[in-house]
Amino acid sequence: MFKKILIANRGEIAVRIIKTCRRMGIQTVQVYSEADAGSLAVEMADESVLIGPAPAAQSYLLADKIVEAVKQTGAEAVHPGFGFLSENAAFARRLRDEGIAFIGPNPEAIDAMGDKITSKKFAQDAGVSTVPGHMGLIESTEEAVKIAREIGYPVMIKASAGGGGKGIRVAHGDDDMAEGFAAVKAEALNAFGDDRVFLEKFIIDPRHIEIQVLGDKHGNVVHLFERECSIQRRNQKVIEEAPSPLLDEATRMAMGAQAVALAKAVNYDSAGTVEFVAGQDRSFFFLEMNTRLQVEHPVTELITGVDLVEQMIRSAWGEKLAFEQSDLAINGWAIESRIYAEDPYRGFLPSIGRLVRYEQPEEGEHEDGYVVRNDSGVREGDEISMFYDPMIAKLCAWAPTRDEALTGMARALEDTHLAGVGHNVPFLAAVMDQPRFRSGNISTSYIKDEFPDGFHGLKPDARQTHILIAAAVAMNEIQAEQDGDPSDRTDWVVLIDKEPHGVTLSYDADEALLLGLTGGGHVRLSDIEWRPGLAQFQADLDGESFTAEVKRVADGFVIRHRAARARVRVLRPRLADLYARLPEKVAADTSKLVLSPMPGLVVAIPVTLGQEVKTGETVAIIEAMKMQNILKAERDGVVKSVSAKAGDPVAADDVLVEFG
Ligand code: ADP
Ligand code: ADP
Ligand code: MG
Repeated sequence: MFKKILIANRGEIAVRIIKTCRRMGIQTVQVYSEADAGSLAVEMADESVLIGPAPAAQSYLLADKIVEAVKQTGAEAVHPGFGFLSENAAFARRLRDEGIAFIGPNPEAIDAMGDKITSKKFAQDAGVSTVPGHMGLIESTEEAVKIAREIGYPVMIKASAGGGGKGIRVAHGDDDMAEGFAAVKAEALNAFGDDRVFLEKFIIDPRHIEIQVLGDKHGNVVHLFERECSIQRRNQKVIEEAPSPLLDEATRMAMGAQAVALAKAVNYDSAGTVEFVAGQDRSFFFLEMNTRLQVEHPVTELITGVDLVEQMIRSAWGEKLAFEQSDLAINGWAIESRIYAEDPYRGFLPSIGRLVRYEQPEEGEHEDGYVVRNDSGVREGDEISMFYDPMIAKLCAWAPTRDEALTGMARALEDTHLAGVGHNVPFLAAVMDQPRFRSGNISTSYIKDEFPDGFHGLKPDARQTHILIAAAVAMNEIQAEQDGDPSDRTDWVVLIDKEPHGVTLSYDADEALLLGLTGGGHVRLSDIEWRPGLAQFQADLDGESFTAEVKRVADGFVIRHRAARARVRVLRPRLADLYARLPEKVAADTSKLVLSPMPGLVVAIPVTLGQEVKTGETVAIIEAMKMQNILKAERDGVVKSVSAKAGDPVAADDVLVEFG
């Protein structure tokens, strides 16, 4: 076996690869850019080599630097992870020429599956069902319109070199087509340096289902069943699960057989993924093959017990697969949530900065029978930088059934606490608690369907209302005690946002808090773990544990439990009456304002009075904690005023730019 492997990647996937190498007794070399000098991967690896400045084009994408690091450290193989050089055939060839093993497929297989057009042709020849469309390149807009009419609208315009959800557009008619064709061509040239474009039928209301394959250098290929990745935003996966709630055994076997046939046709000799779109009627069509480890590979590992990184290493070394198709079976259900540094409350705007708090759920088996795995690449105190993918961690849960796995995931998300950067944990929690997601009736338009106006949190359900009330009353009592101002009052009114809830408070023999609720019933809060200043409140409500995020504000608390977030005040009844009679404060319309998301220094405001700004254009750059935060326009507009200039210090929520 290899004695030393170099990891040509960063972040969580580098950490994940190191873990398997350690278990196999293989030494690791981690290459890193200047931005990653203090990273977890560098800390965990046996050796590390600096390969250049932060931008990937000057570090992680430089084959020369990687090869140099291999020679310098005596590594025998390179694991490329995903992204960066992982699907670069020239890099794989270069390593082969230098006598270094590439832990991935052979360069010919990468070439064959490297772009979407070529791979579609291979797939068709291998008897795989492909999306109806045009198998050739399209040169002009006129030709595109003509072919789109032949295929029949809606059609999908795709960059052949595309990836990561970029270079894809739907056209519903000739006008869309003309505009979209030029847009995809430009985007493809810009993002991939390759403007080849093709068209295929847009499958309506589809699901994304993919098959994991694994091959060796002796002609053996097996599949490890499917993953469903239909929960997507802008064609990018957010939540994935295995198996798929859609498939029956016959469809599963048919898709598996086609994926294996395609892999065999290109002498595939590593881990790879054959992606399909599937109709709700279980028809399925080949999309592309990813010739690398996939972000969502852990869910397959959790249901099969196979370590895919270990298998890739063994295949690269030349070992035969140690199992056959008939040795593999699906055990239970697994789900993955991608935790991203992006703010769901602000249109999923990327958010960078220092992760000032990061509490992760406990890995391993939990009391209720679910298992948590958290593939994370950062530690508390680390910076989420603007240079790389904003993924912080991949949180996975396994359980015997789908329902239990989803419940486990919801709980694991509840036990995940991040602060300092915007993050999508409340959004992920919302999906876990939605009946439609629970039912498995999903499609790639799920997020668009369920959150048409973006994400604003969910209304608290009955149990969450009780959690908000009980946590607020308990914190109020504990805080008063600490302030040396305990009260013996037993009747309170709890305002959740504007809604009053009367409660009477008492303690039982075990010192648990008993709350009688006006309107009937009572709740019992025990095993409280909180003291003033803590951002998490843990307790048992009627014997069931929960964690809420809490923040003290002027006259109460802001409390978030899963996707429900509210301002909660605990008031004497008289005062609550006054609050109720207070004229409703109309919330300021901030939709036309660009506000500073944090205290910091203005680096630049690249817009001027009267300027027309398009969605996505940079309107301000703020620096804090040595990090730059780029604020982009959330909609088109004309600049009505500019309230800050380069060098100005600003506070959180200060107005920077106003649109007319
Ligand atoms: P998966 O199908 O495994 O979820 P994604 O398509 O989300 O993979 O991409 C995985 C990683 O690779 C992401 O970090 C993504 O940004 C990156 N990536 C994928 N394709 C490309 C590409 N063609 N160019 C640059 N980065 C890419
Ligand atoms: P990428 O290389 O960016 O991963 P894919 O071809 O895998 O590109 O497509 C990404 C996503 O776009 C798919 O998961 C699916 O949601 C959607 N998609 C792609 N092709 C089609 C199609 N023909 N019809 C409907 N949806 C599609
Ligand atoms: Mg894809």
